Amino acid sequence: MPGSALPHGGSGRTAGAQPGRGAQPGRGAQPGRRAWLDHRGRVLGPLAAGAAAAVIAQGAPGLAGLRSVRSALFPGLAGQGWPGHVALTFDDGPDPAATPLFLELLRDRGVRATFFLIGSRIALAPGLAGEIAAAGHEIGIHGWEHRYLLLRGPRGMLDDLTRARDAVGAATGTVPWLFRPPYGVLSGTALLAVRRLGFTPVLWTAWGREWEPGSTPESVSATLLSGLRGGGTVLLHDSDCTSPAGSWQAALGALPVLLDECERRGLQPGPLGEHGPRWRPPGEPTPGPASAR
Ligand SMILES: [Zn+2]
Repeated sequence: MPGSALPHGGSGRTAGAQPGRGAQPGRGAQPGRRAWLDHRGRVLGPLAAGAAAAVIAQGAPGLAGLRSVRSALFPGLAGQGWPGHVALTFDDGPDPAATPLFLELLRDRGVRATFFLIGSRIALAPGLAGEIAAAGHEIGIHGWEHRYLLLRGPRGMLDDLTRARDAVGAATGTVPWLFRPPYGVLSGTALLAVRRLGFTPVLWTAWGREWEPGSTPESVSATLLSGLRGGGTVLLHDSDCTSPAGSWQAALGALPVLLDECERRGLQPGPLGEHGPRWRPPGEPTPGPASAR
């Protein structure tokens, strides 16, 4: 996401770098009229656009205000952690066609990660969700439905998160504490629901943009590595349920390159739960920095 007024001009800046900027004013389909774009540069419909404007207005004066509010409430929203650690995260699973291949690669490399699961997809593959957890990976929620939160009211937001949390609990026997909003778009309503349910929201600092049409392992790894920093949080998708068919294959192909680069730089990839002092489930003690961090 670029730093200009347009969030999708291709400069390569990640959403996590300015994570409050999920929905932005930009150039729409109708010349001369303002439209609103999500973090993938798609034009939001009129209803969503109105909601986006309302969210921005909450942070008046505009985006900077929203960022300051966000920073005060959730300083770790972008996913910053120990300088020697890189949080490895996957969104949109579980996907029977793709997730097992990611699990296999991670097992072979001896790496654990955080998987942000969609509740309604857990319902389709509860055994696979259980396999992810049984392999030692951390489970977060990505909502019950993969929908923009801007359109949800307080009750709908609570219902969605509660349902996803319960689905994770039933399928994996774990209690999730991490939440990543679909499309990286948060709203004031969502933040209130997240706090009420005790979730820690997190976006990312680097991504592979494998959901872009025509992505390849090479393009994804180049994008990833350009944003890779110690202490950052990396986002890939182990499913193409919200993106062009086969996009996960580009992510899977880029994953070894990412892990190799982490190794070369002396960075330890792992789940968010090992990412630093603020990245612990509520009520759990904070570990001290290890020598690798
Ligand atoms: Zn997603």
